[in-house]
Amino acid sequence: MVVGKPFLTVEQIHQRVAELAHVISADYDGKDLLAVGILKGAFIFFSDLVRLIKTPLMIDFIIASSYLKSDSQGEVKMHYDIREDVTDKDVLLIEDIVDTGVTLNNLRERLLMQGPKSLKICTFLDKKGRREVDVPLDYVGFDIPNEFVVGYGLDYDNRFRNLPYISVFKKST
Ligand code: 5GP
Repeated sequence: MVVGKPFLTVEQIHQRVAELAHVISADYDGKDLLAVGILKGAFIFFSDLVRLIKTPLMIDFIIASSYLKSDSQGEVKMHYDIREDVTDKDVLLIEDIVDTGVTLNNLRERLLMQGPKSLKICTFLDKKGRREVDVPLDYVGFDIPNEFVVGYGLDYDNRFRNLPYISVFKKST
């Protein structure tokens, strides 16, 4: 397994997360914000981001995994769902990376059925070139090309999550 040099450095990440937090703080000023992190991948982005958001907020988490059925329709399995009542809350869903969009689209639709006051999505990384399901993204950290990346919470086989930067991952042959 080979992890190359940083694709996004610690400095680039910290600067971008601060910029996102600044915009989100302004957008949610005076609102009843519930930040919902999608685990495990978003755990570092989520904790960095919420600490820089100035708006008072509540937090909760979703643990979900997705898999493709044979007809290529994505199915999402919920391992842990949010406990907070979302009614009348301004919910911000925080994800690590959007690839096909299947996972996020499914989670978004589930949340919308619970009747939040508003629902927006923030993703650290966006792999636009791989999109299969159109899902509206309100805040994006970085657009990245179609490479498998690890670090800053993202894994390969539950490893490399603790790398402080984002790196392209290659399986050694
Ligand atoms: P989607 O449903 O958008 O296809 O997949 C989203 C999930 O796939 C992410 O939450 C993440 O777990 C995984 N994923 C997609 N691309 C990558 C990648 O480049 N690196 C890692 N580590 N996970 C990825």
